[in-house]
Amino acid sequence: MKYDYLIVGAGLFGAVFAREAAKRGRKCLVVEKRNHIAGNIYCEEIHGIQVHRYGAHIFHTSDKKVWEYVNEYAEFNHYINSPIARYREELYNLPFNMNTFSKMWGIATPREARDIIAAQIADLHITQPKNLEEQALSLVGRDVYEKLIKGYTEKQWGRDCKDLPAFIIRRLPLRFTYDNNYFNDRYQGIPMEGYTRLVEKLLEGTEVRLNTNYLEHREECNELADKIIYTGMIDQYYDYSLGVLEYRSVRFETEELEMENYQGNAVVNYTEREVPYTRIIEHKHFAFGTQPTTIISREYSREWKRGDEPYYPVNNEKNDDLYARYRAMADREEKVIFGGRLGSYKYYDMDKVIAAALELCGKEL
Ligand code: FAD
Ligand code: UDP
Repeated sequence: MKYDYLIVGAGLFGAVFAREAAKRGRKCLVVEKRNHIAGNIYCEEIHGIQVHRYGAHIFHTSDKKVWEYVNEYAEFNHYINSPIARYREELYNLPFNMNTFSKMWGIATPREARDIIAAQIADLHITQPKNLEEQALSLVGRDVYEKLIKGYTEKQWGRDCKDLPAFIIRRLPLRFTYDNNYFNDRYQGIPMEGYTRLVEKLLEGTEVRLNTNYLEHREECNELADKIIYTGMIDQYYDYSLGVLEYRSVRFETEELEMENYQGNAVVNYTEREVPYTRIIEHKHFAFGTQPTTIISREYSREWKRGDEPYYPVNNEKNDDLYARYRAMADREEKVIFGGRLGSYKYYDMDKVIAAALELCGKEL
C-alpha cells in the first residue's frame, strides 16, 4: 500500500486527522470532491473581506485542550457573537437576555421579566416540554416566542414548532442578566487569517487531491491505503440502501455593496415568517473590517434533495433510527472509519469536531 490512510474530505475532521497522523510519521492522502479544502468552514477573501461561503462560523469552546490546539495553527481575534433579531420594525438583542426583555416589555429588573414570563404561560401547565413550541414557551413566554422564535424556526426547519424536538432551542443561552454574548463558552473568536488558512496549515505536508469524488473512484482509492477515514454522508456511502437521511440545506445570496457598513452587525436575524430569508450576514464585522465596500449574504433555508449541500441534519426519531441502522453497518467495516458531521449525522460545532478527531487519533494512531 502506498498510504497508511486515505482521508475522504478535506474538512476540519479530515485535516485534524491528517495533521496528527503526519506528526506520528504516517502517510496520508486526502481526496476532496470540491475544488477547495476546508469543507464548510471554507472562507474566500474578496476585497480584503473573509467571506464565509458555507455560512457564518464563529469558533467557541469551553474545552481548553481544543482551544490550545487550534491556537497552534491560527491566531484568533476577540470577536464575540451578539446577533440582532429584527421583527418587522422592532429590533431586539439575542440571545434571550435582559436587553431583550427590557425592550419587549419596558421593564428593568430580572424579577419583572420572570413575572411576565410566568404570567404568560400560567394557563399552559407545561411540566415536561414535548416539543420545541412547549420548550420555548416555558422558557421565555408567549411574546418572545411569537415574535422571535416561531417564524424564524419554522423558516429554518420548514416544520411546525410542534413537530420539532425541544433540544434545538436549548442550544441558545437564556439569561436574566444584561449580556448579549450568544455563547456561554469560555473561549471565542475568529481566525485572523481566515479558516481556510487554518486548514491549510493543518494539511501542510499532506498530499491533497481536489475535485476527486471518492465514491466515483472507490476501487482505485481503496487500493491506495490500508485504512480509510470517511467524512462524507454515511447514507451516500451505502448508496442510500436503507433509505435517505433528511437534511436542511441553505441557499446563500451573496452581494457586494458600495457602502462601508450595511447593517452595523455581523448577524441580523429576520424572525418574521413573511421575510423569506432567515438572516443576513455582513462578513466584514466578524473581523472589525474597515474596507470601503461590504459583502452581505442572505440565507434561505430549504429542504435538502440529492445534489444539494447538506447542512443541518434533521434529528427526529425517524432519521435517528435510520442513522442507527447505517451506524451498525459502519461499525462492522474493518477498513473504514466514519467521522465528522456527515459521517456521524450530527450537528457538530467545530470544537466538537476537533475533539472527536483527536479522540479517534488517540485510539487509531
Ligand atoms: P465538512 O466541513 O462538511 O467536511 C467534509 C468534506 O468532505 C467536505 O469538504 C466534502 O466536500 C467532502 N466530501 C464529502 N463526500 C465526499 C466524497 N465522496 N469524496 C470526496 N470528498 C467528499 N460550528 C461552529 O463551531 N461555529 C459556528 O458558528 C458554526 N456555524 C455553522 C453554520 C452552518 C450553516 C453550518 C451548516 C454549520 C456550522 N458549524 C459551526 C458547524 C461546522 O460547519 C462543522 O463543525 C464543520 O464544518 C465540520 O467539519 P467536517 O470535516 O466534519 O465536515
Ligand atoms: N432561533 C430562533 N430565533 C432566532 C435564532 C434562533 O428561534 O433568532 C432558534 C431556531 O430554532 C434555531 C435554534 O434557535 O434553529 C438554534 O439557533 P442557532 O443560532 O444555534 O442556529 P444555527 O446557528 O445553527 O443556524
